[in-house]
Amino acid sequence: MHRTRNQRTIRETVAVEGFGYWSGRDIRVEFRPAEANTGIVFVRGDLPDRPRIPARVAHRTDMPLRSNLQYGGARVEMIEHIMATFSGMQIDNCEVWVDEEEMPGCDGSCLAFVEALQSTEIVSQDAPRRRLAIHETVRASRGDAWIELRPGDGDGLVLDYRLDFGPGPIGRQQLSLTMTPETFLRELAPCRTFLMQAEADQLRAHGLGRRVGFSDLLVFGHDGPIDNSLRFDDECVRHKVLDLIGDLALADCDLAGSAVAARSGHYLNAKVLQALLTQSESNGRFRRCA
Ligand SMILES: [Zn+2]
Repeated sequence: MHRTRNQRTIRETVAVEGFGYWSGRDIRVEFRPAEANTGIVFVRGDLPDRPRIPARVAHRTDMPLRSNLQYGGARVEMIEHIMATFSGMQIDNCEVWVDEEEMPGCDGSCLAFVEALQSTEIVSQDAPRRRLAIHETVRASRGDAWIELRPGDGDGLVLDYRLDFGPGPIGRQQLSLTMTPETFLRELAPCRTFLMQAEADQLRAHGLGRRVGFSDLLVFGHDGPIDNSLRFDDECVRHKVLDLIGDLALADCDLAGSAVAARSGHYLNAKVLQALLTQSESNGRFRRCA
């Protein structure tokens, strides 16, 4: 039996301000209500003609360590935590007005976006949300990293992620959970981006992240986070699941089945989603659920 839900948007415009990790530039993000069937659309309010960039995997461009979108001549960068927040909170239609290319990093988690969206009402719309049930396993891999989207028993999406950093402060972590707004808000939304100190040093040597301090994300030294403390013992794997949700949100529909991943990142997450959408379109399974 299929349990359907209605599409949802927000009642009023809310905003988040911060700066981009990579660019260091200040940005203001406004979340504005949108009609049913709009999906999530970024709008570059700072550019002539205010170009619109639909949040779909077809418009994704490859950059290391983040998810970017490009449509027409306009780009937005590091959208994954905003997308995870929409997907996690089941907000399907929203215009995201921005005045810069790169989204704010905030504390590296989804909390700033969650708090803004929770400050207005989430409203149900008179249209069913599309859902795609996974019927056949699809896989993407590179080296020892892989991800599979598999058929499942119910209507929901189960996420299973295995992270392995070998010996050291992060080590091996595994998390399995069923996506609901409640689990997202409680278990995943507060979990922050992390980097090893060597990576952070390397980025800085290239002139990136100069404005980012130890309180803006988790930087791991030999003994654990530097000048910071963990919100969960396994905060790293939780953040990887959060990123996965953000990447799968570019499907522009709910997914039913499971996502099982080991060491996968934005690149493979997008690749497996593209494979699923291609497969589903070719065998006619991409349909509106009723
Ligand atoms: Zn992330």
